[in-house]
Amino acid sequence: MFTLIDGKEVSAHVKQQVKQRVEQLRQQGIEPCLAVIIVGDDPASRVYVNNKKKACAATGIKSLEFALPAETTQQELLALIDRLMKDDSVNGILCQLPLPGHIDEKAVIDAIKAEKDVDGFSNENVGKIWLGDYDISPCTPMGVIELLDYYGISVEGKNCVVVGRSNIVGKPMAALLLERNGTVTVCHSRTKELARFTAAADILVAAVGKAKFITADMVKPGAVVIDVGMNRLPDGKLCGDVDFDSVKEKCSYITPVPGGCGPMTIAVLMKNTLAACEKQNDIQ
Ligand code: NDP
Repeated sequence: MFTLIDGKEVSAHVKQQVKQRVEQLRQQGIEPCLAVIIVGDDPASRVYVNNKKKACAATGIKSLEFALPAETTQQELLALIDRLMKDDSVNGILCQLPLPGHIDEKAVIDAIKAEKDVDGFSNENVGKIWLGDYDISPCTPMGVIELLDYYGISVEGKNCVVVGRSNIVGKPMAALLLERNGTVTVCHSRTKELARFTAAADILVAAVGKAKFITADMVKPGAVVIDVGMNRLPDGKLCGDVDFDSVKEKCSYITPVPGGCGPMTIAVLMKNTLAACEKQNDIQ
């Protein structure tokens, strides 16, 4: 028998905690504020931005949207970020990725300095995560940790295998599991005999970007399986990186897609905005 990890329930719990803290801050005259920038009209980006704005409304965080045309130059975008960095009423800045091809994403990430980098992508925040001394968490990986905590799943001493090594998911996921005293293996496209590693995992995190990539034969009986993947099938439905129907029979816990890691990413974004606001206002 497996337990379904309910990301909607856990994200609602996290957002409720944020909301209570935001109300306390408002009573002190402090209004947490997140600026969200979107360039162009990519439909998936529009959905993500709308979901982030909804989460701000649900938690009482003020949101500002800057919707820029696809032909916006890099210079114009960097000028906006510079203005928002200097604006004391803005606590967090998020620029929805991907950006149009003529804009250098690295330059944009570098322009959002650590104190307002609520995605946790800046060099400084990435370094702090590896040092175990951070206020801003990487949103998706910390969402996974929140799920594990909520269900009382300990990481300590467990074999943790992360499939995927991207800067936004795989690498920071490995750092957080290591911080929790897991024994961490990171696999990627050049890993030989991948199933040998995944089948030894007590906690398996899939962040590959390939629908139903992790099949039951790759999973250890009783493992905890976390599916970060969000893949669009030809019929338009969302599908994870894990072959849910077969894997669920073999594992102890599993996240669904949708309704697993996705809602957690946004809940952690709200937590990060709150943390940035408190830090900027010298509140411990
Ligand atoms: P990337 O494409 O940046 O990274 C994918 C990783 O998977 C790479 O490290 C790649 O290895 C590895 N990989 C690809 N093929 C294989 C293979 N055959 N065997 C082993 N490893 C392989 O993706 P992201 O990390 O950005 O995202 C991963 C998934 O998570 C996507 O479906 C994305 O949509 C989803 N996602 C979900 C979020 C959420 O909120 N739930 C947030 C962010 C992402 P290599 O480095 O060698 O190329």
